[in-house]
Amino acid sequence: MFGYKFLVTGGAGFIGSNLIDFLLSQGAAVVCLDNFATGKRENLNDASKNDRFTLYEGDIRNYEDCQKAVVGCDYVLHQAALGSVPRSIEDPMASTDVNIGGFVKMLHAAKEAGVKRFVYAASSSTYGDHPDMPKVEHKFGNALSPYAITKYVDELYARNFADLYGIECIGLRYFNVFGRRQDPNGAYAAVIPKFVSSLINHESPYINGDGSYSRDFTYIDNVVQANIKAATTPTKDIVCQMSLYANEQTIDFDASRPLSEVINIAYGERTTLNDLVVYLKEALSAYDSNILNVPTVYRETRNGDIPHSLASIKKASALIGYHPEYSVREGILEACGWYYKNLK
Ligand code: NAD
Repeated sequence: MFGYKFLVTGGAGFIGSNLIDFLLSQGAAVVCLDNFATGKRENLNDASKNDRFTLYEGDIRNYEDCQKAVVGCDYVLHQAALGSVPRSIEDPMASTDVNIGGFVKMLHAAKEAGVKRFVYAASSSTYGDHPDMPKVEHKFGNALSPYAITKYVDELYARNFADLYGIECIGLRYFNVFGRRQDPNGAYAAVIPKFVSSLINHESPYINGDGSYSRDFTYIDNVVQANIKAATTPTKDIVCQMSLYANEQTIDFDASRPLSEVINIAYGERTTLNDLVVYLKEALSAYDSNILNVPTVYRETRNGDIPHSLASIKKASALIGYHPEYSVREGILEACGWYYKNLK
């Protein structure tokens, strides 16, 4: 990565800051564009000490900020968005404004700057109510939230910009990412940091529903690997693999169109919420054995939640050579160690 310059939007957030630290460790120059809507300055503590790092404080809804941040960059890893399904149900206009309006501005600025590739955070929520499992990229159902719609519209824009202007794009449909720095606080916190934070404080974790809902939980280091491979795998290799994959799946693929693909990024295994609590308790009991006795509380299911989620990672493996290094349980051990040190 030495000699390359990356723009990471949303770099003060959970996924973005982990991407930045990895890129810097590999010798890359990195620019972070963030308005700190949900990101934290402390996530950039290590990066800020590195002279290959530049923080550009700005908003992806402001085209000038996008233009200034992307100058001289080889690759964009676009993570900035307002995450969370419930947040988008409560305030669909804000999610649309940032996740679609901001996305198009950033994509346009990247195209104008002539970047080599635009890799962006898509989402498993795009599968909506499609019943098939595991989820394969070309089969999806009705969207269940404004958030899901915004992420799908981004995919359409990426395809369209590739066709119209030739900018290469890869969307990574993340499945329930977890790990160090994911925020445990606030109304829209994700389930793993929320449960870990409750358990560390000997408070009951709340499960929405009976705990049988399941997710394909994906450790952050797998997601970092996916982003780097999505950015740097040569175009001809991706196109060649995509032709074979399309043939195998009997789907249309036109190798003469500029590259714009969407790929699932997950571990490829599903864990129920009941099992998740057991794994978290086991991992945290290495630090405090009383955590094993904290009871779980069950309450009603939430609007917009899908019962199960499981990815096929065949396409990711074929196109960019993605092979997740951390299983769910390995990731949980890593994450719990980090949270115990940082939250206690
Ligand atoms: P996060 O909230 O920790 O990070 C998002 C970052 O974007 C924050 O630093 C925030 O300040 C920044 N941001 C928000 N609005 C902005 C704006 N208008 N201008 C500039 N910066 C802005 O979330 P995350 O979990 O790190 O998610 C990163 C990306 O991955 C998002 O696009 C999210 O939708 C997507 N995603 C995440 C998951 C997951 O499980 N965490 C799953 C699917 C998709």
